[in-house]
Amino acid sequence: MKAAPEAQKRLLDLAELDAGLDRLGHRRRTLPELAEIDELSKQFAALATRVIAAETDAGDLARDQAKAESDVDTVRARAERDQKRLDSGQIASPRDLASLQSEIASLRRRQDDLEEVVLEIMERREAAETQVTTLKSERDKAAAALRAAEDRRDAALAEIDKEAAELRERRPPIAGDVPADVLALYEKLREQSGIGAAMLHGGRCLGCRTSLSIADLNRIRAAARDEVVRCEECRRILVRTGESGL
Ligand SMILES: [Zn+2]
Repeated sequence: MKAAPEAQKRLLDLAELDAGLDRLGHRRRTLPELAEIDELSKQFAALATRVIAAETDAGDLARDQAKAESDVDTVRARAERDQKRLDSGQIASPRDLASLQSEIASLRRRQDDLEEVVLEIMERREAAETQVTTLKSERDKAAAALRAAEDRRDAALAEIDKEAAELRERRPPIAGDVPADVLALYEKLREQSGIGAAMLHGGRCLGCRTSLSIADLNRIRAAARDEVVRCEECRRILVRTGESGL
């Protein structure tokens, strides 16, 4: 496979540009905002679930309170009705009077007990409603933090995509300077190992960082300038420059 030395050097420009694209791709996949968004989404979902549970509790307690209040009203109405009968003076029998007085006393005690129950439910309901308010505020904070992180992610992605688009635009003119068969080999190697071509620098392949043997260096020295040579170690295209140590 042959390519003029200048065309071979263009492979180094191409490799540098492709490494830049790889770095941008890596940055895109490992943006710190992605982990942050993941964490905040989980927090938001957990808080949203807790808000619903707390609202259900508060709703149940509101119904319990209404029921207890209605029980109080029923007992109070019965006591008042009995009291009116007692006050009317129409009950003559001492036994009936005693029985009525006893019932009224019993209803008043029952009313007191039920009012205690109402108070106790009201306290629990207030606590539940405070919990709803607190959780909603935490949930809303998580939602705001999530949106802010998403905005930062979108801005970072837009910046990365802009840089990548600029690099991709510069690529065809460089690739166009390389003979098609050499370019195809470069692309194949790049697909296999991420780097298609590397400089031979001071007797070392900068693709795999291996120092070439004397025999390999001699072989490369003997090769024609337009011969495309490969690293024996990593098989990448080795590009000779003035700094190759040949
Ligand atoms: Zn190598």
